[in-house]
Amino acid sequence: MTDETERPARRNPLQDVAALAQGLRTTLAEVMRPVVTTQYPEEKSPRAERYRGRHYLRRYDNGLERCIGCELCAAACPVGCILVIAAENTEDHRVSPGERYAKVYEINMLRCIFCGYCEEACPVQAIVLGPEYELSDVSRERFIYTKDMLLEPNPAQQEPIVVR
Ligand code: SF4
Ligand code: SF4
Repeated sequence: MTDETERPARRNPLQDVAALAQGLRTTLAEVMRPVVTTQYPEEKSPRAERYRGRHYLRRYDNGLERCIGCELCAAACPVGCILVIAAENTEDHRVSPGERYAKVYEINMLRCIFCGYCEEACPVQAIVLGPEYELSDVSRERFIYTKDMLLEPNPAQQEPIVVR
């Protein structure tokens, strides 16, 4: 039976100093190592060159839309998340260089698996997957990306850059 009033034996103070020095050595070694933490969202890690993120519908330099409404992207999509409804171009209302253009172009981003088949199927490189990966949102409806959301700005209507 042990005596509960018995005090534990005193440690050698040199052992404490050695333990403290060892702890400091570990701390200093970590301070010297390169920082690997990325301060997201202020800093963003680089994407691979062929990373497949958010889609964009591209235009030609003269502002015409590349998409000719052929629906090959929708046919190639393995999950059926692309909707294309084509309409005829007219001389008064020319949207693309072809006979038709995409009047409606939608992608359900909740179903998309970012396989890139749509990009590969497109004969005019109209639909491309860009590097953007921050696609969170607050409702299902907002994941239906419409043509307005997907289409690049018109370079022919952009303000010229003023060089001073
Ligand atoms: S990336 Fe794949 S899943 Fe997504 S829209 Fe294109 S074809 Fe469909
Ligand atoms: S994005 Fe390309 S494949 Fe899809 S409808 Fe337009 S032209 Fe056709």
